[in-house]
Amino acid sequence: MYEERFDKRKFDELRPIEAETGIIPNADGSARFRIGNTEAIAAVYGPTEVKPKHLEKLDRAVIMCKYDMMSFSVPDRAKPGVDRRDMEIGEVITNALNRAVMVEEFPKSMIGVYVYVTQADAGTRCASLTAASMACADAGLPMRDLIAAVAAGTVGDSVVLDLTKEEEDYEGGTTDVPIAFLPSKNEIVLLQLDGAVSREDMKKVIEVGKVGALKIYEIEKEALKRRFSNESKS
Ligand code: UDP
Repeated sequence: MYEERFDKRKFDELRPIEAETGIIPNADGSARFRIGNTEAIAAVYGPTEVKPKHLEKLDRAVIMCKYDMMSFSVPDRAKPGVDRRDMEIGEVITNALNRAVMVEEFPKSMIGVYVYVTQADAGTRCASLTAASMACADAGLPMRDLIAAVAAGTVGDSVVLDLTKEEEDYEGGTTDVPIAFLPSKNEIVLLQLDGAVSREDMKKVIEVGKVGALKIYEIEKEALKRRFSNESKS
């Protein structure tokens, strides 16, 4: 039985969050998103000419996303370079961004999205996706909505929001479900499942994830408002 969380949070409580945009002057858009001890920074370039040319799409922009964990982001030192996990996460982020960014507005062009995890304590794909979507908005790309992403799941018999690595490794069994929403469209743009879960619990996991994502959505919007109100003052 997992009756009390390792970090004493309530089962439906997010870790403390920080969000800011416009952190990388050389990028067209950028953002940093931190949730507990997981932090991702994202930079967006484009729309630009597609390179290599054969990847060009006549009717839309191509989003190219690179996800990487810094060597110092985990206690064991992450191996430098792109591995299969990095490729998979880059792909799921690309798929989700394709639903959020109005890519049809920029035919024959490319949008480059670079996400780096500076600290990892579970939930990095969700933090990366949230940072990437804020960076796209910061770049002024037209969007159907921001993406708000968070992992939920089960630890022992309990449904929990925003698992830590310690919870993911709980020996009584865990399930991790990263979820990303376009909140104003009520659309899920990423849903993955690591572990086994009953249909009943899966419904609860998605519900708790949705409530958490809505809180993240508000924080993202506040960060963007802060950025643009500071810009109009200067
Ligand atoms: N992790 C690690 N070393 C690695 C990859 C992952 O220590 O090379 C840790 C890290 O804390 C990460 C967690 O394992 O957040 C869970 O990784 P997973 O692949 O489930 O993706 P994530 O939850 O980060 O989206």
